[in-house]
Amino acid sequence: MNKTVRKVAYAATALVSPPVYDRVFTSETQSDIEDVEPPSRPVYPSSIDYTSENVTNLSLSLPLKSERTTVTSRTLFRKNYYPGVTKKEWDDWRWQLTHRITRADELSRMLKLSGGELQAISGGGNLLPFAITPYYASLLDPDNPSDPLRLTVVPTANEFYIDPSDMIDPLCEEHDEVTPGLIHRYPDRVLFLATSFCSTYCRYCTRSRIVGENKSEECGDKWSKAINYIKTHTEIRDVLISGGDPLTLPDEALENILSRVRAIPHIEFIRIGTKVPTVLPQRITTKLTRMLRKYHPLFISVHAAHAAEFTPEAVKACARLADAGIPLGSQTVLLKGVNDNLADIKRLMHKLLMSRVRPYYMYQCDPVRGTSHFRTSVAKGLEIISGLRGFTSGYAIPTFVIDSPGGGGKVPVNVNSICGTDGDDLLLINYEGKVFRYPQNSALSGDSVRNDL
Ligand code: SF4
Repeated sequence: MNKTVRKVAYAATALVSPPVYDRVFTSETQSDIEDVEPPSRPVYPSSIDYTSENVTNLSLSLPLKSERTTVTSRTLFRKNYYPGVTKKEWDDWRWQLTHRITRADELSRMLKLSGGELQAISGGGNLLPFAITPYYASLLDPDNPSDPLRLTVVPTANEFYIDPSDMIDPLCEEHDEVTPGLIHRYPDRVLFLATSFCSTYCRYCTRSRIVGENKSEECGDKWSKAINYIKTHTEIRDVLISGGDPLTLPDEALENILSRVRAIPHIEFIRIGTKVPTVLPQRITTKLTRMLRKYHPLFISVHAAHAAEFTPEAVKACARLADAGIPLGSQTVLLKGVNDNLADIKRLMHKLLMSRVRPYYMYQCDPVRGTSHFRTSVAKGLEIISGLRGFTSGYAIPTFVIDSPGGGGKVPVNVNSICGTDGDDLLLINYEGKVFRYPQNSALSGDSVRNDL
């Protein structure tokens, strides 16, 4: 394929400090971030003390490429690159946010950057903002630019290539935007984009057109307009709060939204979409979970890309949310070079289950501007689902979906398991490729009703 690399204007959108709303709402005290409420049941594996700096390895059974998966390795990383920073500071999510890595010279202290990475971060051209929490940086392989986690957050020169199929807003969300940041596409539910801020920016973000904009000062008015719309549309029963990452909001700001949405009589169900448990697990404090549990039924979708993200800290964050009675589901984007093989997806799905997160969606990568290098074939996704079905627990199998470009919504893509009919019998192919029959038309079955028997 003739790839003409097209350099695009540098968008200086990288944020160096948390948004303004951090200073508008009151701050947490240090005691709020302390681990004062142990999980109500053991977390995986039960013998590990997650608060210890001496924990040696949670992931002995997992052949992970990076060796930086232990609490001890994080301690070494902190002492090496942040001398003088205490564990208490490191474990404070606000410290993590205010010390996000946003420049090439900062990152090059920790990673041996390739020419393409350097060019993409400092030479200009990245369409997405760039920021990584120190915690997540500690998980990246310093020597290998092909490390899966590194590919998800460190820009590369591939982002300069704009494929003809790329789109700024592939899901046409702006078309269905009814008030600023409120998307009403499906009949009974809305997507509430509460913030455009994320602690760490994924290089394949579907909302690359908006994330990183520091428009927090507008949130009050924007949120009020959105909530008023929801109030006046009684057909809405389900509100998905997303962004950006809503769990980067201070507790008071998040509660401001949750309490107002929960007070609307026709709202049955609230969801939050977040990547925080894997990129900023320190954010899942007991104070936060005490607040969240007031707004049930509340579900959380956890964005996860790779099993290596499930460190003891991330597992503990998920356990805290689960202990607060919040059902957890996962969202994973299938990404070339990151997780586009059966072994990696299977390992991730198992890690999710062990972390009490039910695998929910596996997405085909959206055709977002500058992300064609991440896209796999749809056949690859089907091959992975075929390799899961029957070979692992049904709970470990996500639904493979394409969010249809142009605003058509999510379309499940299924492996065909019906291979025909023989008379009244349906012919089914099982996970081993063997054909079985299902009898469809006994006297009392099927769609017809017999009252004469
Ligand atoms: S966390 Fe979500 S919104 Fe933020 S950059 Fe990643 S994909 Fe985009």
